[in-house]
Amino acid sequence: SRKLLMIPGPIEFEPEVLQAIGAPTTSHVATNFINSFGNCLEMMREVWQSPTGQPFIIAGSGTLAMDMAAVNLIEPNDNVLVLSTGYFGERYAEIVKRYGANVTILTTEPGNTIALEKIENELSTKDYKLLTITHVDTSTGVLVNPEPITKLAQKYNTLSILDGVCSVAGEEIKQDEWGIDVVLTASQKAIGVPPGLALLMASKKAMAVFKNRKAPVQNYYADFTNWLPIMQAYENRNPSYFGTPPVNLIAGLEISLKQIVDEGINNRFARHKKIGTAFRQAMLAIGMKLLPNHKNNSANTLTATYYPNNINGADFLKQIGNNNVIIAGGLLPSHKTQYFRVGHMGSVNSNDILATIGAIESSLIACKFQYEQGIGIKTALNIINT
Ligand code: PMP
Repeated sequence: SRKLLMIPGPIEFEPEVLQAIGAPTTSHVATNFINSFGNCLEMMREVWQSPTGQPFIIAGSGTLAMDMAAVNLIEPNDNVLVLSTGYFGERYAEIVKRYGANVTILTTEPGNTIALEKIENELSTKDYKLLTITHVDTSTGVLVNPEPITKLAQKYNTLSILDGVCSVAGEEIKQDEWGIDVVLTASQKAIGVPPGLALLMASKKAMAVFKNRKAPVQNYYADFTNWLPIMQAYENRNPSYFGTPPVNLIAGLEISLKQIVDEGINNRFARHKKIGTAFRQAMLAIGMKLLPNHKNNSANTLTATYYPNNINGADFLKQIGNNNVIIAGGLLPSHKTQYFRVGHMGSVNSNDILATIGAIESSLIACKFQYEQGIGIKTALNIINT
């Protein structure tokens, strides 16, 4: 039977988005397509809250967006600081190493964030060209507050990259106001489009650093040199070609970005916050423990929850599937079998989250977990209805 997809991406998509993707493919230089592409670029600036940014829409997954930001800004022997709150922070370190940077990684215990003083101490030790932040690390559900970090980066004349794959259009981001140089994401999460698009917004400063680089960009496909004229052409509603754009996905992106803008970006953040809070409080009321160690660093786009003691994770996940909801297991190698993850972003509504909590409760009961049955649903309802 029909199952509700509640993993941290891909997610459930709006029918209008899927319908647009299913329409006949047009030429990538057809007038309507050029117009759609241009509309997407313009709406990205609204969603990113970056009126001065340079948007890029490229066929690829979120990892390509990470790769593009790194390869276009890094030259061999640049100092790069990676702030890691989980699996995707570690991935960023791997990427920047590949391009010859001298990498320093600051990490912390799973569930924690890195103290600001520690970051400032490190920035003051040498000349860092750039730093990376994972806004929401999808492996832990830890949310980092980017603003104080990017303000520090500005103070030390260091560029900042925000991996917003699990946050853009779900958690508050004000790219220009917060002075972030690159905010990147992928289509399959809170942006609400099936997997296949890497989306990236570069500040004026990032574009200037790119233009002044001495070494060539060490990747042909990802080189801004190839893509900047294409983005500019589409924005001016002119035909252009470098690599064939994913025409159907861009038709879906136009619909989804319109829905996001129509909802209102602040209303959208508030919806994610309410549903995220309802889910976390439900898990706590049932008696389970969350990975993030404080409500202030708990993501509103997904939640990572430890299995209760005496519950076998694999059995529990199987029960959830039997209850027609799909959730995800752990991702952090050191804790993989100890927790599960539920995505609640994009099109998610209160019915989806109540159905998910219901499936979790039914599965706990099937696994013979002792607790006050119904308390999760009741707790979530109270929050949803305030
Ligand atoms: N960064 C974060 C925070 C992510 O959650 C993900 C995907 N889960 C990625 C990067 C990589 O994105 P993709 O899987 O689309 O390559």
